[in-house]
Amino acid sequence: MIYLDNGATSFHKPAAVGIAVAEALRRCANPGRGGYEAAMEAARKVYECREEAAALFDCQPEQVVFTANCTHGLNIAIRTLLKPGGRAVISGFEHNAVTRPLHMMGVNVTVAGRKLFDWDDTLTEFEDALRRGADAAVFTHVSNVFGYILPAEEMAALCRRYRVPFILDAAQSAGTLPVSLRALGADFIAMPGHKGLLGPQGTGLLLCGRSPEPLIAGGTGSESARQTMPDFLPDRGEAGTLNVPGIAGLAAGLGYLRRTGVNTVCRREHRGLEECVRDLRRLGVRVFAGEHQAATVSFVPAGDCEDTAGQLAKLGIAVRAGLHCAPLAHESAGTLDSGTVRISFGYDACPGQNEALRRALTRCPSLRG
Ligand code: PLP
Repeated sequence: MIYLDNGATSFHKPAAVGIAVAEALRRCANPGRGGYEAAMEAARKVYECREEAAALFDCQPEQVVFTANCTHGLNIAIRTLLKPGGRAVISGFEHNAVTRPLHMMGVNVTVAGRKLFDWDDTLTEFEDALRRGADAAVFTHVSNVFGYILPAEEMAALCRRYRVPFILDAAQSAGTLPVSLRALGADFIAMPGHKGLLGPQGTGLLLCGRSPEPLIAGGTGSESARQTMPDFLPDRGEAGTLNVPGIAGLAAGLGYLRRTGVNTVCRREHRGLEECVRDLRRLGVRVFAGEHQAATVSFVPAGDCEDTAGQLAKLGIAVRAGLHCAPLAHESAGTLDSGTVRISFGYDACPGQNEALRRALTRCPSLRG
């Protein structure tokens, strides 16, 4: 199978990831819950992962809180910065992982910047909204549907200028674009461990520029006599037993990225994207491509999107069709009715993938209706 659905999760992970998971299952007990060797080994593994993440994202290991996925981290961050009836500014390309918690809490939302690949529009609209006042801003670094890379540094600078705390959703950028907690001055950066960081599903990171409000309370192995959650990081955000095998796998994924280099991964993926965009244009489908694009591209075939993805699956190509949990992004781009077919490259992008995709696309009846 040619796997081009890395926007959903990375698949065919580096071999070291699976090995690390299996080894953790064999050697690790519960971290922070005992002084015997298997508990200490678990604590070392968990700390190793914190250190790897801190090095990649330019923060202290204690600022790295382990979560179950990106959604979990976003919920912690959103509930820390916003209250029911509060005001949030978001981009026009947010995932349901941002919009649903805001909706559920009854936050008043201003959507700012809806033009794809247009930094001027994004920044002008975003600044206008901040100027009108907000309790927090939440924005994605990269659109999971269109690969649009938002001007995160400039948006962060605007938030700092207007003194609006902010959350960056780095679900689609962590591991493929540089992300620095220190340089952005973010209050929180949420990311999955299972996409570009190449860890197993069930892992995620919340980088904390400030102390989070616990989403759940429980045992941390620290300050057990108290009935409130510890004040200090990372314990404040980590109630209950951690996913040690997942975290060990994530440490291996992060190690792979450190050795390979995020820039190398980015270049590799981008070559895949450029070739793919050229091929799609040649086939005459409606392609969403532009400046500031990560290695994800959406297109609308003449026929049905789901049919097209189904036909590609039969030909051995894995892509995703539909709304990709991001109806707001489709509303912004005018594709809410049709959805799109999304192709997203990963760390293992290579010319052979493009060749196989090209061959399969020409054999897809629904591409031309
Ligand atoms: N935000 C964006 C932009 C995403 O693409 C995704 C997942 O696709 C999420 C948040 C949620 O990530 P997770 O599935 O790890 O919770």
